[in-house]
Amino acid sequence: MMILENVRVLHFYPGSVSEPTDVAIEGARIVEVGRGLASKYPRADRQSPGGYVSPGLVCSHNHFYSALARGLMVAIEPSKDFAQQLKNMWWLLDRALDEGIVRASGLAGAADAAMLGVTSVVDHHASPEYIDGSLDALAEGFETVGIRGVLCYETTDRNGMEGARAGVRENERFAKKTDAVRKAGGDPTVEAAIGAHAPFTVCDETLEALASACSSTGRGLHIHVAEDKFDAVDSRYRFDKDICVRLDDAGLLGPKTILGHGLFLTPSEVELVNERDSFIAHNARSNMNNCVGYNDKIGQYRNPVLGTDGIGSDMLEEALFAFFKHKDAGGSRWMDAYLEMLQNGNRLLERYYPGKRFGRVEAGFEADLAFWDYDPPVPLESGNVAGHVAFGMGSRMVSSTMVAGRYIVKDRKPIFDAGAIAARGRSETRRLWQRMEERK
Ligand SMILES: [Zn+2]
Repeated sequence: MMILENVRVLHFYPGSVSEPTDVAIEGARIVEVGRGLASKYPRADRQSPGGYVSPGLVCSHNHFYSALARGLMVAIEPSKDFAQQLKNMWWLLDRALDEGIVRASGLAGAADAAMLGVTSVVDHHASPEYIDGSLDALAEGFETVGIRGVLCYETTDRNGMEGARAGVRENERFAKKTDAVRKAGGDPTVEAAIGAHAPFTVCDETLEALASACSSTGRGLHIHVAEDKFDAVDSRYRFDKDICVRLDDAGLLGPKTILGHGLFLTPSEVELVNERDSFIAHNARSNMNNCVGYNDKIGQYRNPVLGTDGIGSDMLEEALFAFFKHKDAGGSRWMDAYLEMLQNGNRLLERYYPGKRFGRVEAGFEADLAFWDYDPPVPLESGNVAGHVAFGMGSRMVSSTMVAGRYIVKDRKPIFDAGAIAARGRSETRRLWQRMEERK
């Protein structure tokens, strides 16, 4: 057992700050929070990290395959719209990924997340020239660094129907492998969803195969929807249906479904998504970067969550950008609305990790924690947490990160070999650039 003594427990949403207290952790779980726990558990390992302890942060939509895409030294053709941007940039990148680059990307993405107090990442992976086994290669990064992940492969028809079938197979294989680990008495930190790229690159036959993979594995679909208007228009033009009606008709909207973006969903689709209790991942920075518009309906969803869509894993920065974008668009919601979205990621995790509870520093919850080295010049109190995050706190203040009761970063030092991960990333990136040039 481990006891964190004299820490202040910080919850970002609903905002709360405790007086100094103790947190007792047994194995992967918090067993008690209260004062004087050291005398109650005299044999426990006592630690005094100081500062604040919060639940670990959750990134609910990410693409670690793009972890090496920063500073790309490849001449990318200019694009006139989002569809062309996908073709000129992102689909050139994903086709160039091979096993070594996927492994290096997973490691780099996970290492970055760990340093930022992020304990779980919901990832959406694509590598069309390396599909079989790609989720194992990606998972290696999560496992080496020690963060949790809900992984899936972005099934798509855009490289032919054999590619689509291989995508479905990889999703199913990985989910069943996770189940086998659990059945054998293991407690996997990496979980599985069933992935698809976006409705405009997935035909009805593939949707059917995805639905059958969801029901055979008990997982939900993770898919981009209406990131650009093109996707919504295409659905009505080719299938005579709104995107969410099409997904629902295929049996793909449910409480484990994760929809990315949704900028151009209609009010009746918002209602349908809410009725089905599905999640919608808001990625404000990515939407701004791609100039696709703004999801001004995000406040109307029952289960909005926050993702970065591949722009790192800094979740406090993501929440802040979402808030500023909202204000810039003339909105009147306060920062706490975005911290609530961040917190909702924990409910998503609970639907993928049977029997586990996430997102509170309380007895019975997983010991997934972020430690904050914050000495505020203004009182930090339960009523002003959102204001501190909006105008003072940042992920640079994370001193330690713990997942399932185990430190993965301690006193700003990673427990994993961050230097080796970065060096490997740099050498694999050189190959990535070359492979992208060869595929132009
Ligand atoms: Zn995405």
